[in-house]
Amino acid sequence: METVFIDGSRGEGGGQILRTSLALACVTGKPLHIENIRAARRNPGLAKQHLSCARAARQISGGRCKGDTLGSKVLDFEPGPVRSGDYHFDIGSAGSASLVIQTVLPALFLADKPSRVTVAGGTHNPMAPPYDFLSETFLPAVSTAGFSARGGLVKHGFYPAGGGRLTFDVHQWERNSSAPIDICEPDKQIQIHARIYTARLPVQIARRQENLLLKSDLDIEDLEHIEVADSDGPGNCVMIRICGENRTTVFTAFGERGKPSKKVVGEVGDSAGHFLDSGAAVDRYLADQLLIYMAIADAGEYTTNELSKHLATNIEVIKEFLPVEFTAHEYGKHYKVSCRPG
Ligand code: AMP
Repeated sequence: METVFIDGSRGEGGGQILRTSLALACVTGKPLHIENIRAARRNPGLAKQHLSCARAARQISGGRCKGDTLGSKVLDFEPGPVRSGDYHFDIGSAGSASLVIQTVLPALFLADKPSRVTVAGGTHNPMAPPYDFLSETFLPAVSTAGFSARGGLVKHGFYPAGGGRLTFDVHQWERNSSAPIDICEPDKQIQIHARIYTARLPVQIARRQENLLLKSDLDIEDLEHIEVADSDGPGNCVMIRICGENRTTVFTAFGERGKPSKKVVGEVGDSAGHFLDSGAAVDRYLADQLLIYMAIADAGEYTTNELSKHLATNIEVIKEFLPVEFTAHEYGKHYKVSCRPG
């Protein structure tokens, strides 16, 4: 099969270009040559999370990798046939376990038998899907198209200490008994819930964030504070969960040393407010994460409040592997993104 050449500096220029390429190399069996890996990031090349993604892709497919070393900006990957199994991947840092899972999921959905995947690393990391987003937003969304997996959080791991663990039971794709992704209508009846995580931090931080949330413009139904007792290090995140009759959308902002709670709560409130105001059904993060599944199914559509750079770049990378077309049309405050065979 002909090798797919990917320039990792294109568009968004981050880790997603690598992860999508690895995932679709496994799905299609096409060899991959990728250069300029994460060229647009402060620390370009393969960090531990990306290295784990490459090794995980190699392991599930019994394939071969060249250039899979820390800091490498070039990688060659020759996948073999994907096999179901009981896989354990240890990132060896607080790198995002969610992103490693998302790399192997598409191919494992297409394998001959169910799989179990365990990943050790970060479970709640800035700039990655926190576990709550995976379990409440991402997995239910892909399951509407027959991609069914169940997630479990064994231990929380906050950046930068990490030490978390996630497990996933992945079933085979029910291709023939499922309709394509169709997430266009926003829920009519919604309730807004807030969730605050703290680990190894004074309880006053959570109290301050609770007060700020209650004073925000959002009509928050209830608030839960989860204090994580067994965390390896400190951690704080604030989530707003928009729960409707059909789906839950989780928005997250992360606290860090020197960042005022007002800023953390402001960030998550603004993201949720922008989404609610737009009339879209899918938030900007789920929007880039659904594209692979629409491409595998050759079909699907959703509405989203933002066409992010991640989304645009992901479409370009997907089209290098699969013969599909995506279109995006603007409707007032939101966009409809559709996929069809190319
Ligand atoms: P990259 O920056 O290229 O490593 O890609 C980051 C990935 O994480 C993208 O797929 C984003 O959609 C996803 N992501 C980042 N932040 C969040 C968040 N707060 N909630 C859900 N997904 C996120």
